[in-house]
Amino acid sequence: MNKTYNYINLLFYVVILAGCSTPKSRVLQPPAPPVLRVDTTKINPDSVSIPSVTEALTENQTPALPILRTTEDRIKEMMRQGINKNSDWTEAVHYDIRKPNFVVIHHTAQHSINQTIRTFQLEHTKVSAHYVIGKDGQVVQMLNDYLRSWHAGRSKWGNITDMNSVSLGIELDNNGREPFPEAQINALLTLLDTVKTKYQIPFTNFLGHADITPSRKDDPSVFFPWKKLAERGFGVWYDESNLSPVPADFNYVDALRIIGYDVANLRAAIIAFKRKFIVVDTSGNMTEYDKRVLYNLYRRYF
Ligand SMILES: [Zn+2]
Repeated sequence: MNKTYNYINLLFYVVILAGCSTPKSRVLQPPAPPVLRVDTTKINPDSVSIPSVTEALTENQTPALPILRTTEDRIKEMMRQGINKNSDWTEAVHYDIRKPNFVVIHHTAQHSINQTIRTFQLEHTKVSAHYVIGKDGQVVQMLNDYLRSWHAGRSKWGNITDMNSVSLGIELDNNGREPFPEAQINALLTLLDTVKTKYQIPFTNFLGHADITPSRKDDPSVFFPWKKLAERGFGVWYDESNLSPVPADFNYVDALRIIGYDVANLRAAIIAFKRKFIVVDTSGNMTEYDKRVLYNLYRRYF
């Protein structure tokens, strides 16, 4: 009973913490009691009582409207699934919530910020993002930074195969065939500054959706100002004044892979690389100039 209480107590603090944009661990975490012994009693997570909105209704009450699960209900369900039934349980006292370590930038390929928000709120679409930024610079947050948004889909960067678990997704209202207004980019830069500092995200970890899904996606488009972002400390760029010839033994496929690209579909990886860094030519062929750009990036950062 005591352990069950502790478990619910843990859930309570995690739920509260997850519901806030700023962790308030100093305020919310009580002094932890010392662990004096290991209780080897197995806890069956299914037996842990977690009241939900549905259970709160008495037998004779019929809801007039369909009951939607609250965010707290969803988090409680996810927490329950995170307990390994085959392990003994004793509670750790030092921990916090996992935080994002990558940012993935998208364009919405839709016609308005309102259309995108509606899309993300429809049950059947199964997509979401942490932030949506309008053309006028309006920033709308749709999901707590600590929660896992469904923005990347099947993706790979280096050896990371679940980018949704490690990243924030930011959608820019843009149909994919138009430039990004200055107000929108300025709002993005301010947001990136905030999350980079808050979560200590490495500058190399600011990516585009196409970087991590080269076979499936092409966003953000060639209009996206990657060079400007790199100058502000978000992502990488090459030294245009120092594009030296590549060595005879330079293997551009290895270089693309080492930078992070999934080269399983090499042509798709080359196109994603060129859309971002070459811009004026997005063919699937690596020219001598393209190789110099890649070599420069490879030597500079990796
Ligand atoms: Zn995307």
